[in-house]
Amino acid sequence: MSLVVQKFGGTSVGDADRIRAVADHVARTKRGGRDVVVVVSAMGKTTDDLIRLSKDVSDTQPPREMDMLLTSGERISMALLCMALSDLGVPALSFTGSQAGIITDTDHTKAKILEIKPDRLVEAIAAGIVPVVAGFQGVSTSRDITTLGRGGSDTTAVALAATLGADVCEIYTDVSGVFTADPRVVPSAHKIPQISFEEMLELAASGGRVLALRSVEFARNFHVPLHVRSSFTWEPGTWVKEEDSTMEQPVVSAISHDTSEAKVTVRHVPDQPGVAARIFTAVAAAGVNVDMIVQNTSVEGYTDISFTVPRTDLSHSLEAASRIADEVGAKQVLADDKIGRVSLVGAGMKSHPGVTAKMFGTLAKEGINIEMISTSAIRISCVVRQEMVEPAVVALHTAFEL
Ligand code: ADP
Ligand code: ASP
Ligand code: MG
Repeated sequence: MSLVVQKFGGTSVGDADRIRAVADHVARTKRGGRDVVVVVSAMGKTTDDLIRLSKDVSDTQPPREMDMLLTSGERISMALLCMALSDLGVPALSFTGSQAGIITDTDHTKAKILEIKPDRLVEAIAAGIVPVVAGFQGVSTSRDITTLGRGGSDTTAVALAATLGADVCEIYTDVSGVFTADPRVVPSAHKIPQISFEEMLELAASGGRVLALRSVEFARNFHVPLHVRSSFTWEPGTWVKEEDSTMEQPVVSAISHDTSEAKVTVRHVPDQPGVAARIFTAVAAAGVNVDMIVQNTSVEGYTDISFTVPRTDLSHSLEAASRIADEVGAKQVLADDKIGRVSLVGAGMKSHPGVTAKMFGTLAKEGINIEMISTSAIRISCVVRQEMVEPAVVALHTAFEL
């Protein structure tokens, strides 16, 4: 029988009515003759509320305990959804990440899935039961409960779809698909019917939070088609799949933005082999993923190095960078948490010169200063002041006629 994994985000299970609506949809899918595995997020803003509570209680927030706390949100939704399914006569069983066999590394709050042992899910499916799995969590190789980072329920869903050989992974959310820009920022943005894994990866990596980056990596690596759609209208959404090479690629498909990063600048660094390696080795050892890096031209043997990191990792990054700055005799380490990033993504830009010039020209016309630039074959990103991010997205969406 065909198998579908259906993932429901926080808003989709935000209250009792929403949970009953989701149960109804799952029941219809099951009665339509397909096996279903469900993955749920925590209800509404539960995860944010728990994080706030932890800050009220503690200054240190040990990562192991944060994971124990945050995974409780998804437990609530999975149990409630199973109850609603039971009322509809659909046999369902809830499973924590650990019970579902999701084994991760030991990197608390941003653990990576190492392996999935889905025996219990496979048994349940064979018995005609709908397994409802708590998203965003697993159990580490040292038997502690872990979480997969914010938005991690998407990753749970796609990883399970890959392991169980599902035909499709449906991601139900509060918008009707992947749009040409965040529809909350650009009301005229429109839904993209189909997008390639490569473009979706760039979008997810540059802030388009509709899908978690790791989930898209899993989907691409294991060839799992994704269908991003609304749990409010249930209309067909956006298909994320292998590139259709027979079609002409749009030059720019979408614009994304990200205001979750901060910039670290190490000033007056001796411009010698090995110095950058030391700085970034220390930052990596602190468990921080560095994103953009810019090094200035050296003047009289000294240079400045700037890089961006998730704002939540800013203090760890500063500690690590300052330690090495002292050792190598750099002058100063500066932090800037008022930055934002705006990016253009499009598979067609590979073969169309002039996209960068048009992007910079559009930002200039709006009086928006570019502080850092990074590119890939199909993406151009600019760091700007945080308050200029939204005007930049709107101006670019108009300029590229999306
Ligand atoms: P969920 O809780 O269902 O996982 P998220 O809040 O994580 O939902 O993701 C959905 C949100 O992503 C939308 O409400 C929208 O504001 C935002 N978003 C950002 N960029 C895009 C985009 N390009 N297309 C659609 N939604 C986007
Ligand atoms: N509840 C988690 C979060 O808010 C995971 C998820 O929703 O995907 O980040
Ligand atoms: Mg999400």
